[in-house]
Amino acid sequence: MEKKERNLTHQLIIISTILLICILPGVDFAPEAEQNPNQKIKAIYGLNYKDKYFKGKDINQIVQELKSRGINALFGDYRNKELINALHKNNMYFLVEVSIFVGERYWEKHPESRPINVKGEKISKVKWYAGLCPNQEDLRKEKLAKIRQLITDYDIDGVWLDFIRYPCHWEVPEPILEQTCFCEQCLKIFQKETKIKIPQILKTTKSKAEWILKEHEKNWTEWKCRNITSLVESVREIINKNKPEMFLAMFTVPWKTGDHNNAIKKIIGQDYSSLAEYVDIFSPMVYHKMCNKSKKWIADTTDYVAQLTGKNVLPIIQTRDIAEQEFSLMIDTVTGSKAKGVIIFSSKHLLAEEMLSILEKDVSNENKAYDNQK
Ligand SMILES: [Zn+2]
Repeated sequence: MEKKERNLTHQLIIISTILLICILPGVDFAPEAEQNPNQKIKAIYGLNYKDKYFKGKDINQIVQELKSRGINALFGDYRNKELINALHKNNMYFLVEVSIFVGERYWEKHPESRPINVKGEKISKVKWYAGLCPNQEDLRKEKLAKIRQLITDYDIDGVWLDFIRYPCHWEVPEPILEQTCFCEQCLKIFQKETKIKIPQILKTTKSKAEWILKEHEKNWTEWKCRNITSLVESVREIINKNKPEMFLAMFTVPWKTGDHNNAIKKIIGQDYSSLAEYVDIFSPMVYHKMCNKSKKWIADTTDYVAQLTGKNVLPIIQTRDIAEQEFSLMIDTVTGSKAKGVIIFSSKHLLAEEMLSILEKDVSNENKAYDNQK
């Protein structure tokens, strides 16, 4: 059935060359059709409306311009009613990113939320990045309350959970892989939930951490992943209860099981397979330049996540330090993968006529080859 739809879509493109938003359920589709998780999405994350490219245009005109370029979704500030109205008037999605375990300000307010590494030391801030301990009850409750409020008070079509993981500044060629979190709260909950008892003879955090990793690494990894998945499960419950038609999506670290010695589970705590039970759309952050990877890696990772989860995958790709020709090949790469669209991060380096023109390409044609790209 899916293949049939694709063929139909492809024919329509050839006939009309009308952009994605116009060819799927049709320009006049009913509002409920907007919340169809099978619809392909082309989204921009971090749009700067004040960019000189939009000079003299109001929000509605900006939204219409983007729509004419094939964009059918924007991430934005949920308090911006004008934007939400303009998007919905144009049958476009309004999506919201919700940061979970990140924020230096939270460290300052709640020093116990700063994760502890295997040496028994507080983790360092890496550039802008300050990760949080995922087992602070108040923090978890606060985030769930915020999501509940967001989806009940605002007209949002999809929530993308972000930084929903253990700490790691991963978006570099050689990330530092540091085991966390061995704070008192984590050690307490780990022992309670796994029934593993840390020997009383071990007095320092360092000795306890080393003992856990030496004797019970498998249990530790599984427990870490459960801590992340269980929060996603709670978000799913909130959505099911309050707005079941909304997407639940997740920005994920773009690593396969074998990468960095299974760091996706061991360090990050993201178990794609178990998360798939609760998530509608996965968005691996395939920033190939930042990670010193090929463009083909964008498609490989997308296909890997699609295969592993059986869910829709909407990769987010970088535009910083990307020349026009490369951007064009990146879009082809996404097109040639199992992606259900793409998210562009961000508009800052996109807002030039040449780049926007590239975006008008069809991302629904899944027959394009990408194998020759390096
Ligand atoms: Zn902790």
